[in-house]
Amino acid sequence: MVRPTDLTKKSLKLLLLSTPVGLLGSGQGGGVELTVQNIAQEMLRRGHQIQVVAPAGSAMGDISIQEIPGNLQVPAQTQGQDNPISMPKNPVLANMWDYTRTVQADYDLIVNFAFDWLPFYLTPFFHCPIAHFISMGSMSEALDRIMEQVAIRFPGTIGVYTASQAATFPFAQQCCCLGSGIDLSLYEFCASAPLTLTWVGRIAPEKALEDAVAASQMTGMPLKIFGKMQDEDYWQQICQDYPEAPVEYVGFFPTAELQQQLGKCRALLMTPRWMEAFGNVAIEALACGVPVISYRRGGPAEIVQDGKTGFLVKPDQVAGLVEAIQRLDEIDRYACRRQAEAEYSLEALGDRFETWFQDILNSR
Ligand code: UDP
Repeated sequence: MVRPTDLTKKSLKLLLLSTPVGLLGSGQGGGVELTVQNIAQEMLRRGHQIQVVAPAGSAMGDISIQEIPGNLQVPAQTQGQDNPISMPKNPVLANMWDYTRTVQADYDLIVNFAFDWLPFYLTPFFHCPIAHFISMGSMSEALDRIMEQVAIRFPGTIGVYTASQAATFPFAQQCCCLGSGIDLSLYEFCASAPLTLTWVGRIAPEKALEDAVAASQMTGMPLKIFGKMQDEDYWQQICQDYPEAPVEYVGFFPTAELQQQLGKCRALLMTPRWMEAFGNVAIEALACGVPVISYRRGGPAEIVQDGKTGFLVKPDQVAGLVEAIQRLDEIDRYACRRQAEAEYSLEALGDRFETWFQDILNSR
């Protein structure tokens, strides 16, 4: 495809709108926080101008943030498929889009990372084009419908992590698969590790941490748990159900410390009960040389090379996790790092996003 040279060479002015369910750096927003940070960092490195808009109190290294006050949105995954769309009073999401409306003339492209109805509904009312990056699979009928309308009216403007995620939507064919990527220089390769397992993620029912705890109990292998405590009752129930399991909840760590701890583990267990859209923790583990044992479901099933960089096992079967743990010696940790380098670098992610942005602008 031939592209006008002015656009391919031009430094773009990009306005990135973060998730409204949590502050950047809090962990409440899950993997999309890391994705926003990585896109901002890589686009800056490529000479584009970036402004990030996020709930007040957000932090993201050296990158400046336009902080917006207001109440956070309730995460879509805690609502039912048929639930009506709801907003808190003084919603930060609406405030972020009010701000965006007033500054839109200063930007070439708005990039929306909110998994929410409002930004899709507002799209036709904006003069500035909007790219929507969707970070989860289908969660609500009402949201699916408005996303579909945007996908049809503004072709090419919907981006997703993976094909499995796209397949949950009625507009799967209209989605651009962009994958994920990380700054590999921040993740240190560890050639060996003691017999310790790790589990990394939001402590919430859709992640089925209890299955990893059960596998730890059955194998007697210690399990270290890292991540945002999103559902304290859920965690207490796990502790009650598995009092003998050799597990430790360590807390939520910034990337630099998380990767240090990750590298010291023999394997990462991923136990998604839901359709995991990607699973950034999988590629973070691989970058440290840590094999990934996951249910064959969603993003991890597209990432893990079964038998080479980890194992994919039958979903919701703890016995499969246990069997895979016993085969960990078959995995070469160098192969894990090599896969991360070959497929999940920030440069590769930047190429895909940049092409997506330019295609949207070229098509107008
Ligand atoms: N994470 C972190 N510190 C921790 C545990 C997790 O920064 O102690 C981050 C991790 O780096 C990843 C995110 O939490 O970016 C979890 O994202 P993932 O895509 O795996 O799942 P999601 O929460 O989006 O469902």
